[in-house]
Amino acid sequence: MEVKFFDIHAHLNFKVFQNPEEKIKENLSQGVWFLNIGTCKSTSKEAVRLALFDGVWAGIGLHPHHTWSDLEDPFEGKIEKEEFFDENFYGSLINEKTLVIGEFGLDYFYFDNLSADKIKEIKKRQWDVCESQIVFAKKHKKSLMIHLRSKDESAFEDFYSLVKKYLPIKANIHFFSGSKEYAKKFLDLGFYLSFGGVITFKNANEKREVLSYVPLERILTETDSPYVSPEPLRGTLNEPKNVKIILEKIAQIKNIDFEVAKETIFKNSIDYLGLNQL
Ligand SMILES: [Zn+2]
Repeated sequence: MEVKFFDIHAHLNFKVFQNPEEKIKENLSQGVWFLNIGTCKSTSKEAVRLALFDGVWAGIGLHPHHTWSDLEDPFEGKIEKEEFFDENFYGSLINEKTLVIGEFGLDYFYFDNLSADKIKEIKKRQWDVCESQIVFAKKHKKSLMIHLRSKDESAFEDFYSLVKKYLPIKANIHFFSGSKEYAKKFLDLGFYLSFGGVITFKNANEKREVLSYVPLERILTETDSPYVSPEPLRGTLNEPKNVKIILEKIAQIKNIDFEVAKETIFKNSIDYLGLNQL
């Protein structure tokens, strides 16, 4: 198999990309393979539709923001609410190009102005929706694409206690933003951790320290397009081809050869996605 760049987590399925087929072809021609990741019913359906190209796969799932929030997404527009995980709907999107369930997980980041009761209610719903998707992924033998975010590490701790009941399971913590302590806890469960544009930012020394701690054999690369473009492209729409910049940064931080990093992360991606069994 020819070694490619791998963007494990992109959203060319979002509305901001007005001609996604053209965008996809353009990115494939740069030697990058990628997954478009769904966050709700409509974006999951679109991710599956766009997986018609060789080298492009899909993730389907229900992001915690869609289960409660009134947030407006700068790229996706108004967030559609789905209060529970509709297994029949998402089940109808499973096919051989649907490789992961997610993104889903726990997000406690926007709780500042909420009452304690409201927070309790939202957390309970996030837990239920998260657990249904772990069960769903196990049933369909798919890997997990996990989103975790909180100002302290409570989302990491809560997810860790929840997922431990379902081992063994293949998972990636996308855009890993936790401490070394939580990196170790998830690595001990056999999980992958993916890194994106933040590691190129000037003020991200802590993130780079966590990255140097994680063994190369457990690292995946991502862009989270259209969000979080790496330096020096900040402020532009991110695209899968920019994963090359992330890879360069990883090789530099770990002081290893670029080609070695590329090959190892390609292998990790194939293993995480189960593509070596196809
Ligand atoms: Zn994402």
